[in-house]
Amino acid sequence: MRPTGKLHLGHWLGALKNWVELQKSHQCIFAIADWHALMSEYEDSHHLGEYGIDMAIDWIASGIDPNKSILYRQSDVPEHLELQMVLSCITPLGWLERNPTYKEQLKEITSRNLQTYGFLGYPVLQAADILLYKANAVPIGEDQLPHLELCREIARRFNFLYKKEFFPDCQPILTQTPRLLGIDRRKMSKSYDNAINLSDSIEVIHQKCAQMITDPKRIRKSDPGHPYECNVYSYYEILAPEIKSKAYTWCTQALKGCTECKKIMADKICDYLGVMREKRAKIEKNRNSVRDILHEGAKKARSIAQKTMAEVRQAVFGNS
Ligand code: SF4
Repeated sequence: MRPTGKLHLGHWLGALKNWVELQKSHQCIFAIADWHALMSEYEDSHHLGEYGIDMAIDWIASGIDPNKSILYRQSDVPEHLELQMVLSCITPLGWLERNPTYKEQLKEITSRNLQTYGFLGYPVLQAADILLYKANAVPIGEDQLPHLELCREIARRFNFLYKKEFFPDCQPILTQTPRLLGIDRRKMSKSYDNAINLSDSIEVIHQKCAQMITDPKRIRKSDPGHPYECNVYSYYEILAPEIKSKAYTWCTQALKGCTECKKIMADKICDYLGVMREKRAKIEKNRNSVRDILHEGAKKARSIAQKTMAEVRQAVFGNS
């Protein structure tokens, strides 16, 4: 995950919640991908270090357990770049230029110049991130499938050129994640300033919920609402399913106004994030302990990474 700002409900539902579960069945390795963040934030990168700590705090508060899983900062494990170098040499340029996400992001992100050598090679670094640990599986969303496919192609090419079955054929772990829109009904994102962050205070959550866009056809309190055309109702469906039918009734029968309905939703979100917020507040008081966790994690990650790189060097250059 790239440390480019505070984590929000979309990150929790789309990735973190699943990661917490995966710890029960897998040996997991979670990286704060600061080199990936640098590829787009290189003009304003000085805050990436603190963002990384903030992100680790959100992870731990959410249930990522440093005693079970490895948590580390990507730039603390230089072997990522060494493997990226080797993989860069064997990756045909056309594979990268054809990458749909690359083309899409060049078109969509106009606030930064992404016409760089580093950004084109983004999927090669991603492949190195996965292959360095000889990962069998990666939890991803459907939109990331082309990147994983590229990683698998690069792995196959390495295996073909240097050593059969060296890198495993990494499989996706796809999860159905509910999609929660931002308070303005666009994709929830830091860049749109429309997200409810995991670290938001109770007051901020209430303020944000009060601004949420509702059913545009419901003008007066006495007008019956259309829940499926209201963003607030989709929050009920995902975050408070136990009262979604009540909400449906009070909306369609005009028993409650939108202001009250949004207030109830805000209370539900506060409850939902309550445990996380308390845990976060405790960890926040000792940011150095988080730095220690990341250093320890980097040591564990490096011991795996160094072993892989020793084998890679031997496979590529032979014994010397
Ligand atoms: Fe949306 Fe609630 Fe208003 Fe219905 S009552 S339109 S669900 S905010």
